[in-house]
Amino acid sequence: MELNTRAVHAGREDLTDLGLHAVPIDLSTTYPARDSREEAARLDRAAAGVELGDNPIYGRVGNPTVARFERALADLEGAESAVAFATGMAALSACLLAVAAQGKRHIVAVRPLYGTSDHVIGSGLLGTEVTWSTVDSVKRDIRDDTGLVIVESPANPTLSEVDIRAIDVDVPVLVDNTFATPVLQRPIELGADIVLHSATKYLGGHGDVLGGVVACDEEFAGRLRTIRMATGGILHPLAGYLLLRGLSTLPIRIAHASRTAAELAHRLATIPAWPGSTGRGT
Ligand SMILES: *Cc1c(COP(=O)(O)O)cnc(C)c1O
Repeated sequence: MELNTRAVHAGREDLTDLGLHAVPIDLSTTYPARDSREEAARLDRAAAGVELGDNPIYGRVGNPTVARFERALADLEGAESAVAFATGMAALSACLLAVAAQGKRHIVAVRPLYGTSDHVIGSGLLGTEVTWSTVDSVKRDIRDDTGLVIVESPANPTLSEVDIRAIDVDVPVLVDNTFATPVLQRPIELGADIVLHSATKYLGGHGDVLGGVVACDEEFAGRLRTIRMATGGILHPLAGYLLLRGLSTLPIRIAHASRTAAELAHRLATIPAWPGSTGRGT
């Protein structure tokens, strides 16, 4: 199926069998347990990062509505899995903690990054250390204890771009894809390993929901779930519902915003006094 179609169906595959059109919102904080020994074993599996499905014991461990959004976003990014968080910053923090927990405290990052990302990485607030690099020198700046390479493209707010394909390293490469969205750029197809979104922006699209999400392979997703369960930065089920709903109009919104931006650029280019204008349009 083409991306426009998948955006409408992903995460909703079972709705026809359930006899539903809209996605159910599960607001449970706790779930009934029938067998306490089995329950304890499932909690251990959850702490080890296993996704528990429809009966996730406790709301901080997982949520079926949020899991639908995660499956849909993973599908659109061409990733094995996705893990959702309360905000984009909670998502980035979990990535930093996940590598630091394995003793890989060194990060190689390319500026510009979103301001708060720059702050949390640059300040070492979460116990990581950064080398600020450029696309050309990323390889040289990698050390034995480097856990992640981090780039953002296009960057917020400067729209500066990075050639993701040009970063060819053995360390996991994380791309903040918030501004492009999977409609315009799928970093995993370009060789990246981890895709981060502030879902607050285009994925939500209506200015009424905060969220973050990381698309990656199942191994890293498991480590992120372990961090999420321990630190509690979960996405609320209502936010999960709104974000899943947002995905169904994402391709249409991005196409329209792109057309509008191109028209605006064209008109600005015809204003003789505008910097860079040819006076003739683009
Ligand atoms: C907004 C933003 C973030 C942070 O996301 P929050 O949801 O505000 O925590 C990270 N990266 C980019 C590119 C952003 O635009």
